[in-house]
Amino acid sequence: MKKMENLNPYQIAQMQFDRAADKLDLEPWMREFLKTPDRNVSVDFPVKMDDGSVKMFTGYRVQHNNSRGPYKGGLRFSPKVSLDEVRALASWMTWKTALVDVPFGGAKGGVLCDPSKMSRAELERMTRRFTYEISDIIGPDVDIPAPDVNTDAQVMSWMLDTYSMGQRRDVFGVVTGKPTFLGGSHGRDEATGRGVVVIAMGAVKDEGLEPKGLTAVVQGFGNVGYHAARILVEKGVKIIGISDISTAIYNPDGIDVEDAKKYAKKNKLLLEGYDKAEHVSPKESILEVKTDILIPAALENQITMENAGDIKARFVVEGANGPTTPDADRILYEKGIIVVPDILANAGGVIASYFEWVQNIQREQWAYETVVGKLDEKLISAYRNTRNLAEKEKVDMRTAAYMIAIGRVAEATRTRGIFP
Ligand code: GLU
Repeated sequence: MKKMENLNPYQIAQMQFDRAADKLDLEPWMREFLKTPDRNVSVDFPVKMDDGSVKMFTGYRVQHNNSRGPYKGGLRFSPKVSLDEVRALASWMTWKTALVDVPFGGAKGGVLCDPSKMSRAELERMTRRFTYEISDIIGPDVDIPAPDVNTDAQVMSWMLDTYSMGQRRDVFGVVTGKPTFLGGSHGRDEATGRGVVVIAMGAVKDEGLEPKGLTAVVQGFGNVGYHAARILVEKGVKIIGISDISTAIYNPDGIDVEDAKKYAKKNKLLLEGYDKAEHVSPKESILEVKTDILIPAALENQITMENAGDIKARFVVEGANGPTTPDADRILYEKGIIVVPDILANAGGVIASYFEWVQNIQREQWAYETVVGKLDEKLISAYRNTRNLAEKEKVDMRTAAYMIAIGRVAEATRTRGIFP
């Protein structure tokens, strides 16, 4: 009988944790503590719709761990949000912030909705009411939301405004990923995609390769996928495939990323109908194209037991959170494919968020060059540590990254002690 794969993100996160924790000498209570989110908040709230009706929405904010600093993590709007998904994403933030050594913990939020079917005014009212609902548990020293799937600088501005109205003063540090004219940081918008490329280039170099002439396929053409593709081109890498929710495009001679973006901008953000490349169907098969670098930059559970055997890339660099399942991880490792895990590959976003938060506290705005210089430095150092440990322990990079991160959070927890 065919083995059924467990695709529950929360259980996957726990499996990944266990794989690394087995290699560390953790107290049994510590293991339980680190696996369990501190707080799972669920809110149901009404929003006035444009047609005069009132609709109920459900939202979550999960605070996983704050041993190393305030809870930190994005907020997503999606019809697929579930508490278990948000719990997984929150724990991935804890490991991500620890791995790249920024003084934050981990959290995540989500609102169940389909933003493509809502007007801007409806989105604003929903964002503001959700922010109000969670305003007791967020704050610049408590928990700091940021953009994620289907949320952006505009959504962050509404959150900043709503929270600040409640506090009766401006609190810029309550969210990151704001516009640069409202306390946002230069370089934040591209930081996740940029980080994906910096890390991918590190992995490529370690294999003795030069970026020039390599090919890449990018799944997802949102903030992460677009900037990753754009910056890869700057490095001399040829983008031969891109997919989004509507279609997948393929051109072995190279896709003009800016042209594709321009088209999508005019086409409800979709690549559907783009005529300068072949469209492949089903769109998921773009993952199986022969290429050097594959960047899943969409959602969870894209590379599974079902298709891992068909992946032909030499490097999988995870722009998305949780795109590869544990069974797929094993298959890719056995095939000798280098997988750079999400908590390392996409950490550029939260590192830039940390810089934004520091600038807000200091009432400063750093130059773009300062931000990207510091960003690259942090990323390269985290990549080096991870790669070295993976080689030393003869494990995949995900396990090594988790070992470093769990070790750091455990040490902070142990040293702080248990209250009371
Ligand atoms: N949503 C992003 C992530 O998954 C960024 C989080 C942040 O900047 O707080 O890492």
